[in-house]
Amino acid sequence: MVKKILIVFAVLVVLGLGTGAGIYFTYLYPFMQKMKHTETISYDKQLTLVIGGGGNSGILVSDSAVLVIDTKIDEPSSQQLYNQVKQLAGSKPIIVVNTHIHTDHTFGNKLFKGQTIIAGGNYDKDIWSKEDGVESLPTVWVKDSLVVNIGDETVTILNLPFSAHTQSDVMVYLHNRKMLFGGDVILNHQSPILLSRYNADAYGYLNAFDLVEKRFDIAKVVPGHGPVGGIEVIDNYRAFFKDMKTASTADAATEKSLLDKYSDYTQIPLLMSPSAAENWFKSNPAK
Ligand SMILES: [Zn+2]
Repeated sequence: MVKKILIVFAVLVVLGLGTGAGIYFTYLYPFMQKMKHTETISYDKQLTLVIGGGGNSGILVSDSAVLVIDTKIDEPSSQQLYNQVKQLAGSKPIIVVNTHIHTDHTFGNKLFKGQTIIAGGNYDKDIWSKEDGVESLPTVWVKDSLVVNIGDETVTILNLPFSAHTQSDVMVYLHNRKMLFGGDVILNHQSPILLSRYNADAYGYLNAFDLVEKRFDIAKVVPGHGPVGGIEVIDNYRAFFKDMKTASTADAATEKSLLDKYSDYTQIPLLMSPSAAENWFKSNPAK
């Protein structure tokens, strides 16, 4: 879906606006290239992180089962991830977790046919099929949270009880590694996409940061997009949302300085930018 939106958006800006080509080459083209690029990190003996190629993924291997977090965006990255998983998993059962419904995180689901695919329970079969197609349907819907033991790791799969990036965002916490996979509720140096058709709620992001910091002892953060980091990834993103909220009611000079603070964030004008986030707060004040 995100890709569809980007393509429509690209066509619109190129056709509709005089500055379209500039926006395309300054923002959109580099963004699409960045989206495609992948990097594999062998984090430890059991855990592999595959950064980029759509949403960031994790592969956690044990003697009895393999956990995969998010299945990436179209070809070739989803197929590459699948090959990596098969190489690590052999014939062991695979449990896939989708952090949310967007196809940059779910496109490869169809490759994992016959395996367990877990997603947030505020979605259902109808909503999911319309968005992603029946072939990528999850098999398990988590309403609150689910704890799974994978080898020596205890994994909590948490469905947020409120909307943030979408109406059902899932985060995955690895207790022994103190590592949180944040999905697109936690991005590193990238502006969020807040779309009403997914019930996006910027206040939900702020609530989510508080919730996971209270609930989990977090040392490592794997964001939905951007590089892996520590707890500061969450704190930076909280500051971003608070600043955009402040900017939405501030005088012009303060507003500009707050927006300028995040000029190095990966962004696409109007759709995915600091001012788009600020505009969300302008449209949804005093909550
Ligand atoms: Zn994403």
